[in-house]
Amino acid sequence: MDLVIAAPALVTAPVEGGGAFPVRRIYCVGRNYADHAREMGADPTREAPFFFSKPRDALAPGGASPYPPATRDLHHEVELVLARGRGGSDLTPDDAAAGIWGAAVGIDFTRRDLQAEAKAKGRPWDTAKGFDASAPIGLIRPGPAPQSGAITLSVNGEVRQSGDLSDMIWSSAEILSHLSALFELAPGDLVFTGTPAGVGAVSIGDTLDACAGDLPGLKVTIAPRA
Ligand code: MN
Repeated sequence: MDLVIAAPALVTAPVEGGGAFPVRRIYCVGRNYADHAREMGADPTREAPFFFSKPRDALAPGGASPYPPATRDLHHEVELVLARGRGGSDLTPDDAAAGIWGAAVGIDFTRRDLQAEAKAKGRPWDTAKGFDASAPIGLIRPGPAPQSGAITLSVNGEVRQSGDLSDMIWSSAEILSHLSALFELAPGDLVFTGTPAGVGAVSIGDTLDACAGDLPGLKVTIAPRA
């Protein structure tokens, strides 16, 4: 087959200890910690998990991350990220958990002003959530995902978000089970599992440190637009 333009680049995420995890899709869960649901004006007790996605090439490594265009309110959301090693549809929570290849800490960067406008007008979230470099993650650690442990994000050394992975409304296994009823999962899928309270704005020059359990940490510095 003759490609008529150059093929898009393979997107990979580095793995602790070496190697690269090839990424197929990036799914994200909305409002999965009760305190964050409340800070966004929602009722945490009545919602099934809901999902949105980011393009796979929104994935970014840590380090310098450009402040995106078209926003004056870029927010951080620290999240546990699941990496799928196996696919499948209509998975039970146990089967879904068994197909987790590894886990990492990530940040679901959000153009909060565009999200508020989208919510008010009943429009999709893509421009708020799926912009370039909106999904930085740390090294993926192979093995099961941690189910407890601190999940924190600091900006310039000051703690802004502090929760515990055991506070997730829907567990990793339950999220993947729900997701697999909507989409056929496949190896290479990444799933961001929601953020605790304390989301807030960042500015150019800020340094963010994100941690989830004892997974490899993620450091991001907000850089001027390239
Ligand atoms: Mn999020």
